[in-house]
Amino acid sequence: MIRFASLGSGSKGNATLIESGAKDGDTRILLDCGFSTKALEARLANLERSAETLNAIVITHEHSDHIAGAGRLSRKYNIPVWLTVGTYHMCRDNDFAQTHFIDSHTDFEIDDISLHPFPVPHDAREPCQFVFSDGASRLGIVTDLGCHTPHILNHLKSLNGLLLECNYDQDMLFNGAYPKSLKDRVSSFKGHLGNEQSKDLLKKLDLTKLKHIIGVHVSEKNNTPEHALQALCEGMNCSPNDVSLASQSNGFSWRELS
Ligand SMILES: [Zn+2]
Ligand SMILES: [Zn+2]
Repeated sequence: MIRFASLGSGSKGNATLIESGAKDGDTRILLDCGFSTKALEARLANLERSAETLNAIVITHEHSDHIAGAGRLSRKYNIPVWLTVGTYHMCRDNDFAQTHFIDSHTDFEIDDISLHPFPVPHDAREPCQFVFSDGASRLGIVTDLGCHTPHILNHLKSLNGLLLECNYDQDMLFNGAYPKSLKDRVSSFKGHLGNEQSKDLLKKLDLTKLKHIIGVHVSEKNNTPEHALQALCEGMNCSPNDVSLASQSNGFSWRELS
């Protein structure tokens, strides 16, 4: 069984927990670490977990909202880190306790969890995103991507759970306070996924096995929870009760894929 929870999601920091196995988890992976060690420890405690029990840190790309605390956490608790060579070279603090390089086209395993990486268009050196599987169920996590591609849609087939970026509402972004250069960056094909694109992605997927859909990396300036939830509902053709969002302050609590 796969369990997952978010420690927080948004431009100020991202981290997700993925567990498999018995009640309290045989394998526990931290995907991204965009919080300080102290903040991460507190957020883990809120989810009744501790950093001592993490088997691995997996990094998607080098933006600070994904790696800010990775080096310190890895050294303090002797946790190995998995990431692409490109991401490794772009991390300011890459003095990890142990480093494992991943090929973003090659599946690999961390104990009893299989990871299926795939490259995504995003303005980082070698960004990738993942599907996690225990053989019985599949959890897709796409937090940072400028657009979806046939290759990405192919990887997101037959999911039981999906964490999907809903970064911005187009009108709010273009009428908002960001300088033009930042508006262009966020909305470019190597920036972030807006509500309309997330809705479009969902319409292109086979959702018959999907039990959990959670919007992530929701901008606090260029989006509202209402806009993001509406996009997910329209993409899924479902009621607001069937979709939810990860918050910057609390993420979301444990869920299970059975
Ligand atoms: Zn990013
Ligand atoms: Zn990000």
